[in-house]
Amino acid sequence: MIFQCKNCGGNVIYSPERKGMYCPYCDSEKSEQRKDSEGDIHICPNCGGEVPVGEYTSATKCPYCDNYIILNERIEGVNAPQMIIPFQHSKEMVKKLMREKFKKCTFAPTDFLSEAKLNTMEGDYVPFWLYDYDVNYEYRAEGRKIRVWVSGDTEYTETSIYDVYRDVDVKFSRIPADASVKMPDEVMDLMEPYNYEQMEPFKPEYMSGFMGEKFSVVPKDAEVRTRKKMEEDTSALVRQTVTGYGSLSERERHLSVNDQKVNMGLLPVWKYGYSYKNQEYPFYINGQTAKIVGKVPVSAKKVWAYGATLWAVLTVILICGYYGIMML
Ligand SMILES: [Zn+2]
Ligand SMILES: [Zn+2]
Repeated sequence: MIFQCKNCGGNVIYSPERKGMYCPYCDSEKSEQRKDSEGDIHICPNCGGEVPVGEYTSATKCPYCDNYIILNERIEGVNAPQMIIPFQHSKEMVKKLMREKFKKCTFAPTDFLSEAKLNTMEGDYVPFWLYDYDVNYEYRAEGRKIRVWVSGDTEYTETSIYDVYRDVDVKFSRIPADASVKMPDEVMDLMEPYNYEQMEPFKPEYMSGFMGEKFSVVPKDAEVRTRKKMEEDTSALVRQTVTGYGSLSERERHLSVNDQKVNMGLLPVWKYGYSYKNQEYPFYINGQTAKIVGKVPVSAKKVWAYGATLWAVLTVILICGYYGIMML
């Protein structure tokens, strides 16, 4: 499907600044209509051109007419996302941020922050499984408290033994697990945290103007990580309530899952694929918080021209090279 302007026929897209749909051609905010392609998902509903579509692509851009296409069957039925964090930062906002952050990187290649290069950035919705768990945890341990005192010539030691027992219900909501094989796990880990409070019920309108992907990791496989996290967090949470003992030895623990649910959510990521001397320098920007993950390339020519001492060169490289949290 594509969203078209009833007014001028242009491609209506979602604007993070306006928090709604608008037509970039005539600026109309109230005249969208959905147009579906007939049958073949590879055919652009606007120009009829054949669009190259990857195995997991759910939204893309037509290479002929530049309209943003959403592939109906990849966002419906079993592929349907339930939730989405819409982009909060537009391309213009991200370009500005990139320039502010990296303007001091004197040794970056000249075109690294050029308008033409930064314009190649695309926003991408990455699929996530979000797990809710309702668990019960029983914990039993033996706690000891030792009191020592002296009276006259005698030292007394009193050992009190406690039966420590906890029976706790814990609810977890939206523990995330990356559902995309395409997106490197370590990048998504660095992109975190997302604020899941800003999740909205999914609407295809949010995808107009962006790329998108359907899940390529099944919930059963993704769950290995979230389950481990849930178990560790439950145990740590309960353990925090047990304090004041000199020593503690665990006797038993039992975790049972009373209920669990999984939803699909889409998270926004801006991607900037910069290449320099045959090497890729991918940048990822969290589309909600604008956190930047990437490594700035260093132009050897510029370092040489600068003629600085080795110490100064290294310092600048370190500052620029590891900007943000990062290292890929
Ligand atoms: Zn228009
Ligand atoms: Zn087209």
